[in-house]
Amino acid sequence: MPLYHQSAYEFSRPVPSYWEDTAAPLSFAPPRCSGAHMADVAIVGGGYAGLTAALWLSRVHGMKVIILDAGRPGWGASGRNGGFCSAGAAKLSYEVMIRRHGIDETRTFHRALRDSVAHVRDFLSSEGVDADATQGGDLRLAHKRSRIGPLREETAFMNATFGLDQRFLTAGELAERGYCGPHFHAGLLDPEAFGLHPLKYLRGLAAATHRAGAIIFADSQVTQWRMTSGRHVLRTADAEITADKVLLATNGYTPEDVAPWVGGRLLPALSRIMVTRKISEGERSAQGWNSVAPAHDTRDLLHYFRLLPDGRFLFGGRGGIDASPDGMKRSQNALRASFERLFPSWAHIESDYAWSGFVCLTRPLTPYAGPLGDVENAFGAFAWHGNGVAMSGYTGRLMANFIAGTKDAGEAIPAIMRRPLPRFALAPLRRLMLGAIYAAADLRDNWG
Ligand SMILES: Cc1cc2nc3c(=O)[nH]c(=O)nc-3n(C[C@H](O)[C@H](O)[C@H](O)COP(=O)(O)OP(=O)(O)OC[C@H]3O[C@@H](n4cnc5c(N)ncnc54)[C@H](O)[C@@H]3O)c2cc1C
Repeated sequence: MPLYHQSAYEFSRPVPSYWEDTAAPLSFAPPRCSGAHMADVAIVGGGYAGLTAALWLSRVHGMKVIILDAGRPGWGASGRNGGFCSAGAAKLSYEVMIRRHGIDETRTFHRALRDSVAHVRDFLSSEGVDADATQGGDLRLAHKRSRIGPLREETAFMNATFGLDQRFLTAGELAERGYCGPHFHAGLLDPEAFGLHPLKYLRGLAAATHRAGAIIFADSQVTQWRMTSGRHVLRTADAEITADKVLLATNGYTPEDVAPWVGGRLLPALSRIMVTRKISEGERSAQGWNSVAPAHDTRDLLHYFRLLPDGRFLFGGRGGIDASPDGMKRSQNALRASFERLFPSWAHIESDYAWSGFVCLTRPLTPYAGPLGDVENAFGAFAWHGNGVAMSGYTGRLMANFIAGTKDAGEAIPAIMRRPLPRFALAPLRRLMLGAIYAAADLRDNWG
C-alpha cells in the first residue's frame, strides 16, 4: 500500500508541467521491458540518481546496465522540480550535524554538496546540454525582520566553517539587484548555485546514458523483487530481469512493499509548484523583481521561487499531506494565496501551470547512500530532502564507483550518508506525523 493517495502514482500519466511543454522530446524512445533480460547491474528508477549511476557504470566501468522506470525517464521528481541546483540535501541544521557527527564529517559532507553543484555544471558543459542555466547565484531571503540577525550570523558561520564566500545583502542591496518584496528583509547570496531547466538536464542525461550503452526501459514498474541462487530477480508486468547487483534509486516514489529493507525508513513529502503566465516588464518593475537567479525564504516550510528566462514566474512550496484530488486542490489554493501575499503586485497574474511531486526525507534528516541493510549486492541512494537536483546525480556517480568495486569508493561517500538508516518510529503513521510537524513549523514560521 503506498503512503499517499493512489492518484499520485499514476506512472503512465504525463506530468502537466511547464517543463514538459518547453523541453525537446527525449532523443530516443525507451521501450517497455518485456521477456527475460540479464544485467550486471539493474537500476530501479530513471531519475538523476539512477541515470547518472548507469552512465558511470556503463561508460567508465564497462558494465551491462538495465534501468527500469515505472513511467518515462524523469517521470519522478527529476522531471518536475523547481530547477534550483544548489548545495542542499539535508534538513539537519549544521549546528546539530556538527554536535552529532563532528566537524570533520560535517565538512566532508558539505564538500560533497559543493562538489555536486560543480558536477552538474561540468556535466552540462562537457556533454553540450543546454539546460538554460542561470547566472547570479541563489538567494535565501529573511521572511521577517526577526530573521535578519540570524541570517547575518548564518552568513558568517557558513563562511568561517566551510571557507565559503557567501554574502549578506540588506533589503536595499536586494532591491538594487532586482529582488524586491514587502516580505523580504535581507538575503544570503550563494554565488555557486544556479537555476536550470530540470527536464532539459534530465533528457540530456538520459541521452548520454543511452549513448554510453545502458539499456533504459520505460513503463516498466518493478512489482516483485526476489533472490535466486545469489542473484537478484526483478519482475515487471511483462518481464523478468536477472542481475548480479541492484541499485534502488526511487527516492520519494520508493515502493514500500517491493524493495527489501526500505519499508518504514523513507518518508515521501509533497512539494508543489505553480507557474504564471508571462509577466511583462512593466509588471515586473511594479513588483521590483527582475532577476532570474533563484530564491527561497527562511521559513521552515519554505517557499521557493524564480523568474524563468521567458518571463514567467515559478513559485513553489510544501504540498500538504493529502494527495487525493481534493487535497491537491486545497494545497494549490494555499500555494496561490502565499504567492499573492508575497508578491502583492502580481496578485492579478494568472497561473498557467500547477503540479506536485514527492521529495523524500529520513528520520536522521540526512541522505542515504549504501547497501540495503544486509541484502547482498543490493544498494540504495535516496533522500535528498527536497534538494536533490545536484546531489542525487552526484551520489549516483559515487554509487557507480562503489558498486563497481573501485578501490576506496566506499570512503568517497561522506560518512554521514553511509550511516545505518533507522526506521521511523510508528512508521505506518508517519504521513500523519508529518502533518503535525508541518503545523508546528507553520507556527514557528509565522509567530516564532
Ligand atoms: C515539486 C518539486 C520541486 C523540487 N524542487 C527542487 C529544486 O528546485 N531543487 C532541488 O535540488 N530539488 C528539488 N526537488 C527534489 C529533486 O527533484 C529530487 O531530490 C531529485 O530529482 C530526486 O532524484 P532521484 O533520481 O533520486 O528520484 P526521482 O527523480 O524521483 O526518480 C525516481 C524514479 O523512480 C521511479 N519508480 C518508482 N517506483 C518504481 C518501481 N517500482 N519500478 C520502477 N521505477 C520506479 C519513478 O517513476 C521515478 O521516475 C523538487 C522535487 C519536487 C517534487
